[in-house]
Amino acid sequence: MSLPYDAPVSQTLFDRASLVTPGGVNSPVRAFKAVGGTPRFMVSGTGPYLTDADGREYVDLVCSWGPMILGHAHPEVVAAVQEAVARGTSFGTPGEGEVALAEEIVARIEPVEQVRLVSSGTEATMSAIRLARGFTGRAKVIKFAGCYHGHVDALLAAAGSGLATFALPDTPGVTGAQAGDTIVLPYNDLDAVHAAFHAHPGEIACVITEASPGNMGVVPPGEGFNAGLKAACAKNGALYISDEVMTGFRTSKAGWYGVDGVKPDLMTFGKVMGGGFPAAAFGGRRDVMEHLAPVGPVYQAGTLSGNPVATAAGLAQLRLLDDAAYEKVDAVSAEIQSLITGALTKEGVAHRLQTASNMFSVFFTDREVRNYDDARTQESFRFTAFFHSMLSQGVYLPPSAFESYFVSTTHDAQAVERIAAALPAAARAAAEATA
Ligand code: PLP
Repeated sequence: MSLPYDAPVSQTLFDRASLVTPGGVNSPVRAFKAVGGTPRFMVSGTGPYLTDADGREYVDLVCSWGPMILGHAHPEVVAAVQEAVARGTSFGTPGEGEVALAEEIVARIEPVEQVRLVSSGTEATMSAIRLARGFTGRAKVIKFAGCYHGHVDALLAAAGSGLATFALPDTPGVTGAQAGDTIVLPYNDLDAVHAAFHAHPGEIACVITEASPGNMGVVPPGEGFNAGLKAACAKNGALYISDEVMTGFRTSKAGWYGVDGVKPDLMTFGKVMGGGFPAAAFGGRRDVMEHLAPVGPVYQAGTLSGNPVATAAGLAQLRLLDDAAYEKVDAVSAEIQSLITGALTKEGVAHRLQTASNMFSVFFTDREVRNYDDARTQESFRFTAFFHSMLSQGVYLPPSAFESYFVSTTHDAQAVERIAAALPAAARAAAEATA
């Protein structure tokens, strides 16, 4: 496929990067491997726009993979960061900012009685699982194929969508022992969950699930699925861990919990709560959380955990996220969804738009997508054509067909108009694409 326009400065930077960094990137999806072409090196962001090193501006529908729900460089978040940074960047002691951020999380999300701050979503899920194992004295973990919980060794096992399949590691470097206690099940399949509990009585420490998955594209839980997980865990003495790193503080003021009301034992957060800085958290039932050091025996720590600059950014962002902000994000998301589906329908492109509040994805298939196997049946080559056409017209989509799109409070009429203007040609490109 010939790519619509080049990006010489980004290409030069990518060449430089590739010499000193594996694949030229610090997180694989950024390399555009799934869609080809030159990854754009961004130099600045304002509101809904990003500007790349070649001086081109894009409407951003990635929002840093979720965190930038108030748009880029929100003046109040920037001011909070500047104020914090001027007072010093890290003390290695407790500070008031972490207390305030923890209080904000506890106030918003009822199942969270206590919370521990960490620096990434990966750390949050890794720690939550360790805590669940320490609390229950059991080893096994159930996860679902297509759910991503960061690059935790035990959770990089997604192989096997069959009933109670013992996971094989997905990547070299994860040993069979590390993945051997992970049971991977098909998403949205409660029968498989019941069968796994039946097959391993007294062995399963926890079930971890994305509250509403966004890492195989947006695949919301079917009616009663999360409640069924919670009930199965309660019946079998396991903990129900809801990973809200992506959905937390995005899909509502109280994340996905605010949407479905199913009360987890433990929850994990990241992205939005850091305001664009490395801040994440795990929290939940007090009796479980009190198993953490220094109160309890389960060790967990971090030099930069609760970092004053990151907590200032996160707190400033959360305090701006009131009901009106979520109404705005939901409304603009719905508008963009309808423009996308209208343009694809007009060109006769089979597609399925799936949503979880303001998160959405477009699958290039006419079937409902309920799990990872369904997601993989889509015609990804159509997405590639769609992506590059949008990119060439100044709209930055996630560079993979298996991701959620994200919008912000700053996606205004002008940004939406730019998306609308780009869509007809992109839909035509998707229609004309060949495998
Ligand atoms: N959990 C979920 C649901 C995620 O979407 C992600 C990242 O995309 C993570 C965990 C890992 O977070 P991080 O990339 O901050 O380590």
